[in-house]
Amino acid sequence: MFFKRIDSTFNGKFSELFKSHYVSHGFSTRQGGFSSAPFDTLNLGSGTEDKTMSVSQNRKRFFQAVEITESQCVFPIQVHGDCVRTVTIPGTYPDTDAVITNQSGLVLTIQIADCVPVYLIDPVQMAVGLVHAGWRGSCAGIVEKTICQMNQDFGSVPSDIQVFIGPSIGPCCYEVGEDVASQFENQYLSGTWLDLWQYTEDQAQQAGVHRKKIYRANLCTRCHSSWFFSHRGSQGKTGRMMAFLGVRANENPVSTDQIK
Ligand SMILES: [Zn+2]
Repeated sequence: MFFKRIDSTFNGKFSELFKSHYVSHGFSTRQGGFSSAPFDTLNLGSGTEDKTMSVSQNRKRFFQAVEITESQCVFPIQVHGDCVRTVTIPGTYPDTDAVITNQSGLVLTIQIADCVPVYLIDPVQMAVGLVHAGWRGSCAGIVEKTICQMNQDFGSVPSDIQVFIGPSIGPCCYEVGEDVASQFENQYLSGTWLDLWQYTEDQAQQAGVHRKKIYRANLCTRCHSSWFFSHRGSQGKTGRMMAFLGVRANENPVSTDQIK
């Protein structure tokens, strides 16, 4: 994985996973924006206490840098639930933590500040999914549910799907209380430290994804506080990064041979 600097913002590019040009994708960092502390500086989150004007300037700058337009985007209003929506048009979708589409030109987005962004790509059916997976959604099986819905709605075969686990709070920094710990099997806990990365990976595998097609950024949002906003690292008062993923317009499906 590498980060490519574009016009003083950063567009996360995941070289292992996205070798083809048929998806547009990225992950913002906190650098290169207009917001003041504690939202400094590239806060792309709606629903924070940051100035609306700053968020809007930040979004404009980010979208320009990554060459997408806000009018192409799908914006879920995330509630830490397990609702997966199949979308065909841009707009705002309430009570939604995962979105899937096979509509080219549409760009899925989610907001992140510790929770796990999970990118799902089916290069055969030209379908994509983007999941906001915190501990609640993960416990409710949101990653598996999203893969199942891609199968039902687009005919995606799970073994064709590639999974990327983006920057989020790592097992190094995710200490949880007994109430949360009790929801997970011991293998995901080291004392009171929870490994949501491994849990996400296992969920994807249980849904039929091949282990070799699962990639991790292995970047902890709390450890890298100059790059990323961290909800835990700032006692809940901070900005949001944005993950985005879409099928580019005018691209053709690839055969399974090409993606091996
Ligand atoms: Zn960490």
